[in-house]
Amino acid sequence: MRFENTKEFAEQLDKEDKLSSYKNEFIFPKVNGKEVIYFTGNSLGLQPRSAKKYVDEVMEDWANLAVEGHFYADKPWWDYHERFSAKLGKVVGGKPSEITVMNTLTVNLHLLMATFYSPTSKRFKIICEEKAFPSDQYMITSQVKFHGFTEEEAVVKIEKRKGEHYFRTEDIVTKIKEVGDECALVLIGGVNYYSGQVLDMKTITAAGHAVGSKVGWDLAHAAGNIELNLHDWEVDFAAWCSYKYMNSGPGNASGCFINEKYHGRTDLSRLEGWWGHNKERRFLMEPEFQPEPDANAWQISNAPILAMAPYLASLEMFENVGMPALIEKRNKIVAYLEFILHEIDKEVDASFEIITPSNQKERGTQLSVFLHGEGKELFNYLMENGVITDWREPNVIRLAPAPFYCSFQDMYEFGQILKAGILKD
Ligand SMILES: *Cc1c(COP(=O)(O)O)cnc(C)c1O
Repeated sequence: MRFENTKEFAEQLDKEDKLSSYKNEFIFPKVNGKEVIYFTGNSLGLQPRSAKKYVDEVMEDWANLAVEGHFYADKPWWDYHERFSAKLGKVVGGKPSEITVMNTLTVNLHLLMATFYSPTSKRFKIICEEKAFPSDQYMITSQVKFHGFTEEEAVVKIEKRKGEHYFRTEDIVTKIKEVGDECALVLIGGVNYYSGQVLDMKTITAAGHAVGSKVGWDLAHAAGNIELNLHDWEVDFAAWCSYKYMNSGPGNASGCFINEKYHGRTDLSRLEGWWGHNKERRFLMEPEFQPEPDANAWQISNAPILAMAPYLASLEMFENVGMPALIEKRNKIVAYLEFILHEIDKEVDASFEIITPSNQKERGTQLSVFLHGEGKELFNYLMENGVITDWREPNVIRLAPAPFYCSFQDMYEFGQILKAGILKD
C-alpha cells in the first residue's frame, strides 16, 4: 500500500478501519485539555470504559451478599477464574483446560519453575536471553541459587551478534545444541521488551525439546499483541501479565498456560494450595490434596475478584474483536507509523534508526526507535505535547500504537509533533 503523510490520508485510513469505533471504548488521559496520543500500551494499557461496571458489580455483590457471593453472586467467586480460560485460550492458542489466571507474572514464573525446573547434577542449566527484562534476570538467578548452583555455572545467556539489535534464531538453536543434555530449561521473552522483536517460538521450542529440555515463555509483551499457538507449538508452559496489551489495569492478574501433557500427573513437583484442590470438594476442608484435572491444579489462593473484574471486562472485548482483526489493523498502523517516521526523518534530516525488525513476521505492535543526536529534551517535548511514550537510555523511544485504541490520525499528528520538537532547537 502507498501511504501519504497527510491529514486527509490518515482520516481516510481511519474511515476504512473496521475497529475505529473501539477508540471510544477506552478512557484517554488529557494533556492541555486534549486526549493524548498513547504509545505505551506495551507498558500499561488504557482503561476500557466497561471496566468500572465490572468492578461495581463485584462491589454490589459484596455489599448485598457478603460471603454468599462465593456461590450466589451474578458471577460467583468460587470459580470466577474459570471464566477466563476459554477466552484467553483464543488469545494465546491454548485449550481452555491449559489456561488459568492467578497471581502476577513473576510470581507465576517462579511457581511454574517449581514444576518445570527440577535440576539434577547433570542437567541444571537455564538458557535465557542477554539483557532480559530485569525481573526475569533476578528470577532466574534466584532460582538457580535456590537449587544450590551459581549464576556463572547455571545461567547461559544468548547473545546478539556485535552491532546487531536482535537475536538470530540460528544462534539460539546453536546455543541450545551446545548446552545439550545439560540444559534443563529454556526460558525467554517471546517478544523482546526492548527491541520489540518477536522470536520464532515454534522453532526454539522444538530445539529445546530435541535436547531433552523443558521450554517456557514469558509472554508479557506477546499476549494480546501477536499470534500465538502455544498448544500447537508444544510449549511446556508460559505466563504473561495482563496490564500491558491486555488492558486489565495496573498490577493485575497473570495468565498461565500449562500444556495438557502435564495435567493429572503425580510425578511432578508443584507448590500447592486450596484453590488447586478439586473444586467440588474444596470446602470440605479435607487433609489430602486432590488436584483439579487441568491447569487449575496450579492455583493456590482464592482469587482477587475485585482486581480480576477489569481483566474480564477487557477480555470480553478481545473475544468480540478477535486476534485476527487486531493483528490486521496492527500491521497496517505499525507500517503507517514506520512510514511517517521515515518521512519526518527525511524532512528534518535527522537519523532515526528503527531497531525493531522490519519484517512483519518478526515484530508486533512496538517500534523501538534510536533517535541519534537527540536528547531527553525531545522526549520531554513529546510528553508536554500530549504524546505519551517512553524513553530508554541511551536514546531509544518505544512506540506501541495499540490497534484497539490508536488511530491513523494519531500517527499523522505524532509525526507533526515530532517534527516540531526536533526543529525547535
Ligand atoms: C512487564 C514485564 C514483567 C513484569 O512482571 P510483573 O511480575 O508483572 O511485575 C516481567 N517480564 C517481562 C518480560 C515484562 O515485560
